[in-house]
Amino acid sequence: MPGFLPAEEGLALHRAAGTAAAAVPGAPLVEIGSWCGKSTVYLGAAAAEHRTVLFAVDHHRGSEEQQPGWDWHDPSLVDPVTGTLDTLPAFRRTIWSAGLEATVVAVVGDSATVASHWSTPCAFVFIDGGHGHDPAHADYEGWSRLVAPGGLLAVHDVFPDPADGGRPPYEVYLRALDDGFEEVAACGSLRVLRRVLSR
Ligand code: MG
Repeated sequence: MPGFLPAEEGLALHRAAGTAAAAVPGAPLVEIGSWCGKSTVYLGAAAAEHRTVLFAVDHHRGSEEQQPGWDWHDPSLVDPVTGTLDTLPAFRRTIWSAGLEATVVAVVGDSATVASHWSTPCAFVFIDGGHGHDPAHADYEGWSRLVAPGGLLAVHDVFPDPADGGRPPYEVYLRALDDGFEEVAACGSLRVLRRVLSR
């Protein structure tokens, strides 16, 4: 399956989502940035196990780094009619194949726009959308406030050493610590932080 998530990190994501779902029963899980659904399956499985749902937010047009001419571009994902990237068909096939259509709800649109109209507290928020400065920080600002007390915030592609990868996810991770989230797990470039109960 196309994607950018090592199996070890996927399993860590699954564990964290299960922990969060147990800590905040009944609250939904949210994923920002689904691409073709690889991480969505790990999170969706945790949601199903805890009888909740996963909202998978993505405009399905790809991030800046996935556009033509960039390293992460995949021409097989271009819609021949529109000429734009369209990962929604691949995403739907992934979710159908995993038997998760009753658990995973695709929200197709700009994450910041969705967040601005969202008020339901979330047990778990996974930020893995656009990795440029503006989208990464907008995702943090839009969604971190929606993590329920006792719930978890996960950030992917956190690289403390600039030689390993781009800065924005690492900056988002530092902001979360500064805002009072506590780090509870790390695996590869995945960081998991808890919103403390007293906030
Ligand atoms: Mg990622």
